[in-house]
Amino acid sequence: MSTQRPTKRSRAAIAALAGVATVTAGAMFITSRTGSSFGRADSADSIELITATTEAETTTLPSTTLAPTTTLPPPTTTTKAWPKGPVLTIPAAGAVPVISRIATADPVVFLTIDDGYIRDPRVPELLAQFKIPATLFVNQGPYLADPDYFARVTASGGSINSHTKSHRLLTKLSASAQRAEICGMRDIIGQHVFVPGHLFRAPFGVSNTATQTAAGSCGINAVLSWHATLNDGRVQYQQGDQLQPGDIVLTHFRDDLYDNIRALIWQSAIQGLTIAPIEDYLPLPGDG
Ligand SMILES: [Zn+2]
Repeated sequence: MSTQRPTKRSRAAIAALAGVATVTAGAMFITSRTGSSFGRADSADSIELITATTEAETTTLPSTTLAPTTTLPPPTTTTKAWPKGPVLTIPAAGAVPVISRIATADPVVFLTIDDGYIRDPRVPELLAQFKIPATLFVNQGPYLADPDYFARVTASGGSINSHTKSHRLLTKLSASAQRAEICGMRDIIGQHVFVPGHLFRAPFGVSNTATQTAAGSCGINAVLSWHATLNDGRVQYQQGDQLQPGDIVLTHFRDDLYDNIRALIWQSAIQGLTIAPIEDYLPLPGDG
């Protein structure tokens, strides 16, 4: 599908659009998420850098990562102009790579959404309004509860991919059990969509070589990690204080998802980045 690239706007112009008049300085602190419930566990093993808002500066440029509560930058109509294509040599067999960021200078970032338990009806509407592709990683229970919902979420591009059937910690499982979890979920998705996604994300982001080999055995060509996260309506960076081109952004089907996507739209527009389909950069061999 085609994607669209925001025109370059000055940060001040976008601030004016959103009615933002003050700026916040980032105060960095570290938090470790220890969520034990099924739906909140993906970031349990990651250290996240969160930019806190302190309003210590007075320029007109918003450096906070929190989306405004008023107007978002409008959808843009500029046709994509940057080159795209495979950035990896995908092995024909054996262990597939684990990727947390696409090595590209293209002004793109990638939205990925995991699990599936909370299915906010505003989310597919928001993604359609801004023509944003989303790459989903779902588990059996929540996916089968409403497969049509996930189809609507990907109506503007992206794909629906395996996140294992039951969200178990893969490194505790045998190679064959891992394969059943990873490939079994892809098969289930394939019963509901014409082409199941060819990417994989491990529960909790924890994988080993057996995971990579199991994924490769059923037509998956990359295990995706992440380089930024969305939580509580904020963009949180693992490096620096803004998005990097090629960042894979992780969030979840939770009650903050709508606000999280708005925050990503906002921050991406400020930085002149397009939320692009990662499938363009990690195609299957033979894909266009
Ligand atoms: Zn998960």
